[in-house]
Amino acid sequence: MKKIKFVVIGFGGMGSYHARDLIGKNEFVETYGVYDIDGAKNQQATEEGFNVFESYEAVLADEQVDAILVATPNDVHKDLVIQALHAGKHVVCEKPVTMSVADFDEMVEVADETGQTLMVHQNRRWDRDFLMIRELYQNQIIGELFQLESRVHGANGIPGDWRHLPEYGGGMVLDWGVHLLDQLLFLVDSPVKSVYADLSYVLGDPVDDGFVSFITFENGLRAQIEVGTSNFMKLPRWYVKGTQGTALIQDWDLSGQVIKQVVTDEKVEPTPIQAGQGLTKTMAPPSEEMIEPLALPEGIAEFPEFYENVYQVINGLNEPVVKNQEVRNVLQLIEEIFESAEGNRVVN
Ligand code: NAD
Repeated sequence: MKKIKFVVIGFGGMGSYHARDLIGKNEFVETYGVYDIDGAKNQQATEEGFNVFESYEAVLADEQVDAILVATPNDVHKDLVIQALHAGKHVVCEKPVTMSVADFDEMVEVADETGQTLMVHQNRRWDRDFLMIRELYQNQIIGELFQLESRVHGANGIPGDWRHLPEYGGGMVLDWGVHLLDQLLFLVDSPVKSVYADLSYVLGDPVDDGFVSFITFENGLRAQIEVGTSNFMKLPRWYVKGTQGTALIQDWDLSGQVIKQVVTDEKVEPTPIQAGQGLTKTMAPPSEEMIEPLALPEGIAEFPEFYENVYQVINGLNEPVVKNQEVRNVLQLIEEIFESAEGNRVVN
C-alpha cells in the first residue's frame, strides 16, 4: 500500500493538528510537507522537523505531492483549492469549504473537469455523541424521533483573529454551525421544509457570536440547533424526544441517559407533586412502572475513518463518506439561516 503524500497548507491551529496527528499518524496518508504564508509558522514547522515549502507554487510544482490539505482562513479556501485541482493534486479542504453555494459549485466543477478528488473535512460525523444519537434515530430505540436539540455552549467569546471578521468568513454559523448542521443533515433522511434563525451579536463583533435556528423536515422532525459563546453554564449537548422516550447527552464526556416508555395496557398513574404554589400530575415524574432506563447506544461508525476513506476514494475503492452534494446542502442551509435572520422570517 502506497501512502498518499499530503502537503498541509496553513500551519495554524488546525493545519498543525493535521500535519502532526490526523495525517501525520495515519496509516493511509502521510505529511510530506507544510506551507504557510507566515514565515514564523514555517519556522515552527521546520523546527518540528517538517519539510517546509518556499511557496504555494513550489508545492503544486512538486510531482511527489499527491494531495493537499487546506487549513487556512475560510476566504482563501476557494482559490487555493481550484489552483491545486488544476495542478493535478487531490484536495481535502477544511470546513466550511467556502462561504457560498455558488463558490462551491465552481470548485466542484473544476474537480469534475480535472478528475481530481475534492473532499471536505466534516470530521464531526465521527464524534461518538453524534453517532449515539444516530443509532437512536436509525434503530428507533425510543420510537420515532420528532424533536431534536443540538447545542454547543462556550463562555470564551469568538476565538482568534480572523474569526471576528466577515471578509475572512468569520462568525459562529460558519465555524461551529457548519459542524452541527452537517451532522443534522447527515442524520435526517428527509428534505428540509423550513428554516428560522436568530443570530446573536452580544459581543459587539461584526459577525455573529452565536445563533439559534429551528429547522423543520418534511418527515415532521423539528430540530433546534444552537451555538453560544457567552454561556457560563451549558445546556445539554443533545436532547432528543421520540414517540417512546427521551434521551439526553450532557457533554463531550458522553454522560447522559435514555428513558424509554413501557408500553402496557395496565397504565400506572403518576402521583401528583407539589410544584411551587400548586399541585400537578401533568408535570409529575412518570410512575416507575411506566419507564425503563436504558444505556446510551454504543455510537460506532459503520463507515471508515476519514483519511482511510480519502485513501479509498482517491484509489477508486469506495464512495466518499462526505459527499460533495451533502456539503452543498449544508451551504444552502447556511444561506437560508442568514436569509431568515436578516429578514426575521421563516424561509420555506
Ligand atoms: P489559524 O488562524 O490558527 O491558522 C490558519 C493558518 O493559515 C495561519 O497560520 C495563516 O498564516 C495561514 N494562512 C493564511 N492564508 C494562507 C495562504 N494563502 N496560504 C498558506 N497559509 C495561509 O486558523 P485555524 O483555526 O487553524 O483554522 C483554519 C481552517 O481550519 C479554517 O477553515 C477552520 O474553519 C478550520 N478548522 C476546522 C476544525 C475542524 O474541527 N474541522 C477545527 C478548527 C479549524
